[in-house]
Amino acid sequence: MDISTSNQNEFLDKDKGIDYFLGSSSKRYLSSGFKRIEHSIENISIEEDCLFADLFINWPKDWSEKKGGQIKPHVGTLDYFLFSERLVEVYMKLVEHKKIYKKSIKDVANTFLSNGFKVTYMNFFRRSFSCKASRTNEAVISYNGDVFKCSGRDFTDELKEGFLNDNGKIDWQKEKLNKRLSIVTYDNSMCKECKYLPLCWGPCNQKQLENKSSNLNNYCQFKYLEMSEEDYILLRFNSTLIKLKENA
Ligand code: SF4
Repeated sequence: MDISTSNQNEFLDKDKGIDYFLGSSSKRYLSSGFKRIEHSIENISIEEDCLFADLFINWPKDWSEKKGGQIKPHVGTLDYFLFSERLVEVYMKLVEHKKIYKKSIKDVANTFLSNGFKVTYMNFFRRSFSCKASRTNEAVISYNGDVFKCSGRDFTDELKEGFLNDNGKIDWQKEKLNKRLSIVTYDNSMCKECKYLPLCWGPCNQKQLENKSSNLNNYCQFKYLEMSEEDYILLRFNSTLIKLKENA
């Protein structure tokens, strides 16, 4: 077999450089040609938490020439990268400023709802008390008889509020218990002015025991709602519909 090496030798000729084979770098897209293309993004809008925009590209005549002629204008890989990067940047800024809500929780909830599951999210369905620890007849009893009110904290001696005696009754540490139960969780200016008070009843008494009243707004659950109020109401409505159908 006879293998010609003449083309290989031509390719290995360093003096000729890559431009000899691909055409002048000043006119190639993947060299300086890309830099002459004009990109613009206009009419950015948000609909249903989605970002819409008009993308424009202006190709100059010599945007890409290769040996043998001019290339027909088309959207190239670098154009996609550039648009994606800029749109992601715009999207992240809008999320940061809460003009777009993170979609994940809403999407997950809607997936469950559309498959017939009831969904609860956040604690805006309380009735007459903020948390079970506000109820007089509530107790969390540990394996050794130690009694607590809050199930959201470690079962330490410091947080113990009573003990289950041999008669099956609870010996409460009255001072601790009274201090907790005297807290009216919504009796503060922040909650009294809030339209969600009948669904929320304010930050729980454990949080109020642990924090100064001036820090209370850090414990307002509304601050941590990860969807719009409208979406949340719709979620609750759809979940209640499923419950009603189950009980029909
Ligand atoms: S202000 Fe916050 S904590 Fe108070 S009732 Fe409203 S949502 Fe609940």
